[in-house]
Amino acid sequence: MAGVKNIGDIAVARIEELGGPVFGPQSLIPDWNDADVAPHMKWMVPDHFDPASGNMCGVFQSWLLKTKHHTILIDTCVGNDKDRPGFDRFHRAKHPWMENLLKAGYHPNDIDIVMCTHLHVDHVGWNTKLENGRWVPTFPKARYLFAKADRDYWDPKTGGHSAMAMNEVMFNDSVLPVIESGQAQLVSGVHEIEAGIEIHPAPGHTPGTIVLKANSGDKRAIFAGDCMHHPIQIYHPEWGVSVDEDKEQAYKTRVNIYEECVEKRSLLVPAHFAAPHACHVHREGKAFAPDFRI
Ligand SMILES: [Zn+2]
Repeated sequence: MAGVKNIGDIAVARIEELGGPVFGPQSLIPDWNDADVAPHMKWMVPDHFDPASGNMCGVFQSWLLKTKHHTILIDTCVGNDKDRPGFDRFHRAKHPWMENLLKAGYHPNDIDIVMCTHLHVDHVGWNTKLENGRWVPTFPKARYLFAKADRDYWDPKTGGHSAMAMNEVMFNDSVLPVIESGQAQLVSGVHEIEAGIEIHPAPGHTPGTIVLKANSGDKRAIFAGDCMHHPIQIYHPEWGVSVDEDKEQAYKTRVNIYEECVEKRSLLVPAHFAAPHACHVHREGKAFAPDFRI
């Protein structure tokens, strides 16, 4: 499988943290049911569904874009060494993400911009690293772009949406040190990084979810973060995930993104899809269908 190597003149790298049959279907997608998914097994098995475990396949990964002007890291996964009690794959992890970044040919000093699609625990981890007992920004030269709406929502001081203790810990170890170092830039509305690279609001999964739209020559892509977690949600855009903060808005945003992918022939590049990790989208009946020939 070729995967995404470039969008026009923009070089694309994928930095994986972990992957496999990692998602319990009904715990992630409550509407998942045997009758509706049965017709999809022929394309889902084995890349997107693992019959042996009964789990959906997915990955935790970052996307890296090298444009003429910037090296942009989209999302920073779970990170290492973080206290995430109760979450086995996340707690004090020792994943080879940093090794994979270096293997891809990039060093933390190369990163100009870090863009977090949203401030969930699996998208902010490598924002910081543990150094002499303190959390410090991993990318010393980078400007970190966070949506103001998500900062406001998840900051325990302003949002109070820290019902899960993990969210408060996450904010304090992976977002606050970046704000305190002066490297954070809070964005609202549409934000142009450079010609052809724009950040757009895509609320629903979280209030401040943002996506990155890349355009080079006649090629386009939408780096869509967690607006969708599994390609079954292309056939069923009405199926949200249990961790969508606003389910109705998340549904509307999914449909908007699929429509743009159809109309502009944009490649859909979400955060968690298993190989080939991206797809084209076309209309099928009243909904949509993925095309993995990329
Ligand atoms: Zn995620």
